[in-house]
Amino acid sequence: MSWYKKGLKFQCTGCGQCCTKEPGYVWLSAAEIDAMVAHLQISKEEFMRRYTRSVFGRISLLESKTTFDCVFLKDKKCQIYSVRPKQCRTFPWWNENLESKEAWKETAQRCEGIDHPEAPVIPFEFIEAERNK
Ligand code: SF4
Ligand code: SF4
Repeated sequence: MSWYKKGLKFQCTGCGQCCTKEPGYVWLSAAEIDAMVAHLQISKEEFMRRYTRSVFGRISLLESKTTFDCVFLKDKKCQIYSVRPKQCRTFPWWNENLESKEAWKETAQRCEGIDHPEAPVIPFEFIEAERNK
C-alpha cells in the first residue's frame, strides 16, 4: 500500500519558492514551447534566445546565475502562469518527491504549501493522476 494512500495536505500559497533559490532545470517540450511562443506573441527564435538554454541536448528555461530565479518569475509571480510547463504544473507531485515519507518531508522544507495549516487533504487518486501526467 502506498504510504500516502490517505492523501497528502497541500495548498499552493503562491510564495514562488519553487521557482527560485536553488539551481535547477525547467524542461520544455516542443508543444510547451509553441504554447509559450503563442502566449507571448513573439517569434520562436526570439523566445529561444531570450528565455531558454540548451542542456544535455534538451531545452530548459533560463534562470538567474545569482538568485536562481526562473526567467519568468517577477515579483514572486509566474509571468506565464496559464501556459507554464508541465513540470511546474505538476509540482509537488513528482516521483522523486513522493518516493517516501522522508522525500516528501524534504520537499516540504522548500514548499510552504505542503502540510500548510489551511491546506486540504488532496486525495490519493488526484495525486496519482498528477504524478503520472
Ligand atoms: S513553493 Fe509550494 S507553496 Fe510556494 S509557490 Fe511553489 S508550490 Fe506553491
Ligand atoms: S515557468 Fe513559471 S511556474 Fe515555472 S519555474 Fe518559471 S516562474 Fe515558476
